[in-house]
This record gives sequence, structure tokens and C-alpha cells, in this order.
Amino acid sequence: MKLHKPWACSDSNQNQCQDSNFFSLFLPKILKMATFGDFKLTKSVQKGVKEIGFTKPTPIQVEAIPAIKSGQDVLGIAQTGTGKTAAYILPLLTKLVKAEGEDPRVVILVPTRELSIQVGEDIAELAQYTNIRHAAVYGGIGWTKHAELITPGIDVLVATPGRLMDLYNHNVLSLKKVKTLVIDEADRLLDMGFMPQLHTVFNFLPMRRQNLLFSATFSEKVEKLTEEFLDFPVRIEITPSATPVEMVKQQVYHVPNYRTKLNLVAHLLENEAVFKKVIIFCKTKITAETVFKVVHRKAEGEKRILHSNKGQNARINAINAFKNDEVRILISTDVSARGIDASKVSHVINFDVPVNYDDYIHRIGRTARAGNHGEAITLLDPSEEWHFQKIEKLIRMSVPVYEIPAGVTVVETEKADRQLQLREIDRQRKIDDPTYKGAFHDKKRKPAKDKRDFTDKFARKKTRKKRKKRR
Ligand code: AMP
Repeated sequence: MKLHKPWACSDSNQNQCQDSNFFSLFLPKILKMATFGDFKLTKSVQKGVKEIGFTKPTPIQVEAIPAIKSGQDVLGIAQTGTGKTAAYILPLLTKLVKAEGEDPRVVILVPTRELSIQVGEDIAELAQYTNIRHAAVYGGIGWTKHAELITPGIDVLVATPGRLMDLYNHNVLSLKKVKTLVIDEADRLLDMGFMPQLHTVFNFLPMRRQNLLFSATFSEKVEKLTEEFLDFPVRIEITPSATPVEMVKQQVYHVPNYRTKLNLVAHLLENEAVFKKVIIFCKTKITAETVFKVVHRKAEGEKRILHSNKGQNARINAINAFKNDEVRILISTDVSARGIDASKVSHVINFDVPVNYDDYIHRIGRTARAGNHGEAITLLDPSEEWHFQKIEKLIRMSVPVYEIPAGVTVVETEKADRQLQLREIDRQRKIDDPTYKGAFHDKKRKPAKDKRDFTDKFARKKTRKKRKKRR
């Protein structure tokens, strides 16, 4: 766990928290006290906090720790980087007190193996002076390895939903003793289509339990899950839903095509003094591979690539090397980057616009962490401008546009690429205006009509000739 500078709790945070009945009365008092000592955490947990060097709780910790300790359900709308993991781990460790029995009493569901490992590491640090046992499990490797981790007895289990069910179905894991269920990065879990698995897991858990749900955004899907799964939760919203980290300096470049984007990225990365630690996000694995090849050839420093086709070890090693500043440039798809808690990322470059607009917030949230300065640069080809307008609406701000620097070779867009872009723009116009027929629609019909006319004329001539012959 890396140390963050204590956050200032803004007025807007305080206002949003007033949703929660209990906290509206006591919040001013709680905010004033705001030291870890006031939470009455167990001594061994406090020792862990001190050892890591956390001096002041973050706003989400100020609000969530007392609520979780008191046994209430909690809905936390907070991005990574706000200290949300410790906000639920600290009170849960306090409630568990010490190791007990064989079956987990706390289950934490996460969307990706990277986040599972990250949360596991956070628990290891915060629980270092307790005897509480934990394990972090995830798909992609044989379940028997994970079975070995939990059979000696366990108190806290961090798991991706699929792996949790693997262990349950093989009778290695009992969920009867679960007292608290945490769903972390709920928006991501739902975007990845985990809803059916979540329902299956809920069916095997005891009815009486505490539920905690954390999500970076409060989408419709998350709202639905909250209604189904939480009982009169205390709602804690640290930043308004879908607001990007304010410290991130965002910029946009309008770039005509893919090849010019590659030239621009290579040009930007030449400036090693400024682009010190960079994550380049790509929508697809194929794009990530192409960008990696170009960056590998043209940029200085160590580079790594991260996507779901990469082996488990390669992915974990890449994240660790990036965290430890051994890697300057990390190229990643959206899913693989979840759970990367690396400090001092100077730049996030969005090579393209993410399919899921919320991912823009997750992407740019990788920089400007812990009060550091950070920039997010987004490259837009003409067919992506419409999507970016939607993102600007979501983040409630318009992002300044920058000119492509003089040193960058602007390549002419190939005919096939231009066609693809135009088709996409056409599709977007049709969405905005259902009466719009589309440029392609008209163009397509015309040649078809001409051809038919021509064939008809040709057919008529042939028949006339035949008739003449017969006569
Ligand atoms: P999270 O939002 O859980 O991803 O946490 C982001 C980072 O904040 C992690 O590196 C934590 O170690 C760090 N952190 C959490 N709580 C505190 C705190 N009270 N003081 C300083 N750093 C913190």
C-alpha cells in the first residue's frame, strides 16, 4: 500500500453525505475528529495503520468506517485512489477481531484478478499485526492451488465471482459463516456481465448478513443492484457520480487517422523529462499490440503490455514492474488496467475512446493520484468525436483541444479507413436523428437503380432482337 496525502473533505462531500440519516446529524463531529484513533479500531489494526504511515483518514474512511463498524449496509460511490479499500478493510478487521473457525466470515467480490491481488496485498499490510487469515483468488489458474490456500482455515476471502463458485462447487469452500459481503468495483463487475454469477453467489450466502457495495460510478445497473441487494444503506458519495479526478489536466487532439495517432504518440513520448511514467490505453488487444510494437521501436525506456491474452505471470510482473518504477510505459486494455495502484503516473494517453464511457473516468483516474500532478491526453479520429462529446457530458466539462505539434507527420487517411469513419459517423447521426436516412443509404440505392435500369434496357433490346429474328 502506498501512502497518500490526506484528502481535504470538501463541502460538496458533506452535502452529499446528508442523505444518510445518522450521518447527517453526526457528520460534522466525525469530520472534526478525523483521526484513526477515534474509530476505536482494535489495537493490532491500529498498529498496522501506523506501520504503513497513514496519519489521517480520507473522507471515505471518515464516513464509511463508523457505518461499517455499526453493522449498517453501505453504498460507497468512490473512485479508486480515494482510500476506499482501507475504508472497508479496517472496520471489517476490527469486527473479526482474530482468526476463528475454518470458513470465511468476510467475502470480497472483485471483477479482476489484478484487483483481487491488490486488495489481498492491502489486507496483508493492514492485518499484519493480527492473526486474521486471508487469501486472494481469481480465475485463469487451476482452482486446486487456491483450494490449498483456503483449506487450512480462512477469515477473509477476496475472489472474482467465477473462482468463488469454482471453489464452492468443488466443496472446498463453505459460505455458511459469511457475515459481511463486499462488492468492490460493482460498476465494472456489472459491465463485465457478472450479474448472473452475482445472483448465484447471493443464493448461497446466509440471508442475514451485512452488505457493502463500492462503485466508481452510480450507473443504472449499479442502482438496480443496490435496490436488490442492500438494506437501507448509508449512502456515501465522495465525488459526484462520474466526475473525473479534479487534479487531472485533460487534453484532446483531433487526429485524422490511426497512423497519425501512432506518429503523435511516438512524438509525445520523445519527451522523456515530461512523459516520465505513462499508461497508454487501447480499446482492443489488437490495437494495444500495434501500439506496443511502435512504442517499443520508437520510445526510450522499459515498456510492457497488458491484456487478457497475456499469461497471468506476465501480467502480474508487468504491473509490479510498473509500480516499482522499472517500467516507463505501460500499454493496456481497459479491463487489465483495473486495480493498478501505481503512484506518480505522469500521463495517461487514451489512444482511442473507450467503448464504455465510464471507463474514461477509470482510465484518467490512474494519474494525478495522491495529490500528484497528472495529465490525460485523448486522441480522437473524426468518428470518435461524437463519443467524446458524450463523455464530456458525463464528466460535465469540456476538455481543451490542442493542435497536433509541428514535428508530427500527418498521414493522409486511406480510402478504406475513411469509408469506415464515414459509416460510423452516419450511424451516429442516425442515433441522434432517427429520421435521418444516412448518406450511405442514398448512395447505395442509386447505383442499384441505375443497374436495374441498365439491365432492363438491355433485356428489352434483347427481346426486341429475338422477336425480329422470329419474324
Ligand atoms: P484505494 O482507493 O483503496 O485504491 O487507495 C488508494 C491509495 O491510497 C492506496 O495506495 C492506499 O494505500 C492509499 N491510502 C488509503 N488510505 C490512506 C490514508 N488514510 N492516508 C494515506 N494514504 C492512504
